[in-house]
Amino acid sequence: MNEVNFENHFKDLFHNTTDLIQFVKIDGNIELVNDTWLSILEYELHEVIGRSIYDFIHPDYAGIHKENSHTVILTMQTLNVETVFISKYGKTVFVEGNLNAFAHSDKAVYTRAVFKDITERRLAEKKLAESERRLNILFKRAPDAVVIINEHQKIIEWNPKAETIFGFTAGEVLGKLLSDTIIPVNYREAHKNGMMHFLRTGEGPVLNKTIEITALHKTGREFYINLSISSVKIETEWLFIAFLSDISERKKTEEALIRKEAELIQAKSLEQQKNEFLSIASHELKTPLTTIKAYTQVALACCADTPDKVTEYLKKVDEFSNKLNSLVTELLDISRIDAGKLKITTKRIDMSVFLEDILSSLQYITSNHTIIFNEKAHALVNIDQLRLEQVISNIIDNASKYSPGKNEIVVTSQIKNDQVITSFKDFGIGIPEQNLPKIFNRFYRVNEASMQFSGLGIGLFISSEIVKQHGGEIWVESELNKGSTFYFSLPIVQ
Ligand code: ADP
Repeated sequence: MNEVNFENHFKDLFHNTTDLIQFVKIDGNIELVNDTWLSILEYELHEVIGRSIYDFIHPDYAGIHKENSHTVILTMQTLNVETVFISKYGKTVFVEGNLNAFAHSDKAVYTRAVFKDITERRLAEKKLAESERRLNILFKRAPDAVVIINEHQKIIEWNPKAETIFGFTAGEVLGKLLSDTIIPVNYREAHKNGMMHFLRTGEGPVLNKTIEITALHKTGREFYINLSISSVKIETEWLFIAFLSDISERKKTEEALIRKEAELIQAKSLEQQKNEFLSIASHELKTPLTTIKAYTQVALACCADTPDKVTEYLKKVDEFSNKLNSLVTELLDISRIDAGKLKITTKRIDMSVFLEDILSSLQYITSNHTIIFNEKAHALVNIDQLRLEQVISNIIDNASKYSPGKNEIVVTSQIKNDQVITSFKDFGIGIPEQNLPKIFNRFYRVNEASMQFSGLGIGLFISSEIVKQHGGEIWVESELNKGSTFYFSLPIVQ
């Protein structure tokens, strides 16, 4: 090989090596760079020669490169260095390599650097570091406890939420067996066997599922958690990642709901049994009662010549069997209402005519009070006369019963909009304000009143159901010790 060729080969090697090579004078100005340097940093040779190397190095790395250059010039030793260039078009280029100094024959001192482009590696590392950072944030801030165990069942990760949920700090559990910490005693054996079974067969029935199970708090308290575990093999070792959340509050609510539901079902069935009993009992009572009434009637009719006393007693039997009959009828009505079978058959009638008629027959049996009916409105209504008679009779009966010592009941009927409103005013014991909203409830009786007066607390309940069936409303106004006024409205037929 002659001399010329030799130089050409060196030149070729210098320019075409994959490394970036640079010669820089002691004052920092570039003496020479190879083609690889130019092509990676996207420059032409004439744009570089004679310029400061620091025009090309990233400003953040200029200082350290200066220091390194100084060191190699002083010590004449080779340094492994890293730096970062900015290419002509703004690309960041990471490099690493050797930096050393040498003196030329003219005693001028240069630094020489041979760099490898490690941009790709650095970017990949950066990416990895970034995703690790993100993962770490996720791990730390996860709303669930995240626990990782290795195949020897040892805890290797324990995030802050796990510390909150289980009360153990990471320091207290890392490296410990999972079964010695949060697994309740009676699950420990199953847990060990499950792990062993998985490692032997690759089968894990609880893997990749969410299950509800109990766990132990540091204090020994056992509580419900949601648990999902997945397995991952890293190189040769299996890791198990568990996500756990405390569901004890939800469980408590669920349990309370289940209890409530059971209570409701029980109450419903009791209510049903009671209604059935009511229905059967009132039917059973009705039959002998009808017979008693029939025989009394017969006795009264056929024994006209019996002594007055006997007739009088028979009349009493008749009167009380009537009372008993209406009580039993009310009980029957209650079971009809419960079964949704309280039906009405309506007929059109003038309300004032109907009221006059019914009030005069009620006056007949209301011995201590005078029923005053002065204000009468003529209005056509569609009513079931028997049922409405039942309502009025109950209200009048109450008015008379709850106003002992008084002697008037005032009835009015007025038209308001498309309704006829009938009112019944008494001057009796009245109803305390706090009891008013409950007065139409089934079996409700005002305490004070029920002490002195007999009754079952069902008359007003039935009355309100009957009025509702007619498309009307029933309500009361009352003042204690002054009296009560009961109202019901009925739609007027146009
Ligand atoms: P009962 O009279 O058989 O107890 P009701 O359903 O007819 O049942 O009445 C329910 C309760 O309302 C009564 O127990 C009584 O406390 C109260 N009440 C009804 N009417 C009057 C009234 N006119 N004055 C005072 N209290 C009344």
